[in-house]
Amino acid sequence: MIKINKNLLNVQQVDNFEEVSKRVNEYKINNPNNKLLNLGVGDVSKPIIKEVIDEMNKAINELGNIDTFKGYGYFYGHSFLKKKIIDEYKCFTEEEIYISDGAKTDTTNILELFDKDSLACLFNPSYPVYRDALDIMGIKYEYIDANEFNDFRPLPNKKYDIVYICSPSNPLGIAYDKDYLTKWVKYALKNNCIILYDNVYDSFIRSSNVPKTIYEIEGSKKIAIEFRSYSKKASFTGVRCSYYIIPNELIIKDVNKYWKKRVMTKFNGSDYIAQRGALATYSDKSIIKINKNIDDYLTNARYIKEELEKLNYKVYGGFDSPYLWIKNKNNMSSWNFFDLFLNELNIIVIPGIVFGTNGDNYFRVSALAKKSVIYEAIERIKSYEKEN
Ligand code: PLP
Repeated sequence: MIKINKNLLNVQQVDNFEEVSKRVNEYKINNPNNKLLNLGVGDVSKPIIKEVIDEMNKAINELGNIDTFKGYGYFYGHSFLKKKIIDEYKCFTEEEIYISDGAKTDTTNILELFDKDSLACLFNPSYPVYRDALDIMGIKYEYIDANEFNDFRPLPNKKYDIVYICSPSNPLGIAYDKDYLTKWVKYALKNNCIILYDNVYDSFIRSSNVPKTIYEIEGSKKIAIEFRSYSKKASFTGVRCSYYIIPNELIIKDVNKYWKKRVMTKFNGSDYIAQRGALATYSDKSIIKINKNIDDYLTNARYIKEELEKLNYKVYGGFDSPYLWIKNKNNMSSWNFFDLFLNELNIIVIPGIVFGTNGDNYFRVSALAKKSVIYEAIERIKSYEKEN
């Protein structure tokens, strides 16, 4: 009798998000005329800029021409894009850079680099994909609490082999400064621990004390693998392009030799058209336009924060990140608060419990929605608070 991989039975995230969809769908069936406003979704709402679209169109035409056609062989990514990434970091060689199809793929697949007996550390709360990927791989993990008492900046008091750090953080909406990250780098160097640094929201960083990359911290090339993506930066959530850095200096001997074997076995390379689009994000004109888009999202975030604080909500994040981590009122649990917002205000938020038990008294709001949706939602919350 064929047996399923038991690890798949542990995956929880899908169930949690399915529960959100189930409740929303039930509401829609029972109230077909009510307009729902979605402040939960982590997808972007702005279209891809023209410069990128034009470049992708050129790439499509090249693929239809016998002289410029490109096929298999670029397992680790095209040089033209790697060169731009090297310019960005001002260190690293092409050999240390991997172009891929999304940070979700990359932050989870990287677990195949490690022995199954490794012990991983997760923040509670954190992006739930990390936990589920560890479960699927059968790698054990423990949580460390990120809460108001430690300013959402936990540090471990035992030895771990792997830790996921997400900054700017989904769901907390805060970005970690140099001092805090330095503590982690020192810890990792001392304990031979690898930091998986999920930096997909780097383009939202505006604070000068927040490093744009973990590699700004001394010693980090020995212990950190960094992940970035064009998804939120350049609206590539539907296009798919990302990259990650595995430094040759990493404490794992010959790490790139072994990881290249893994990549070549399981991946035939990222989409050429997507990589050409990513290339176009680096022109001066594109940088200005992309920054303007990100600034618009950040303006939305500041607006949500200011308005909710006026209504006595406790709001975290939203400065170097599109996310706001907001405390439920009246000590309500996540799902009760979610139902209240859905049924009374017709607004969808993400219940904090989805990200871990420490999220139970919180909800996550995203400023990536359209400005009009955000403004309408805030007006609804204001009127509701006035009446109740
Ligand atoms: N990491 C975090 C923290 C995210 O929030 C997301 C997407 O929302 C991802 C990774 C996945 O990004 P990508 O679209 O590049 O797969």
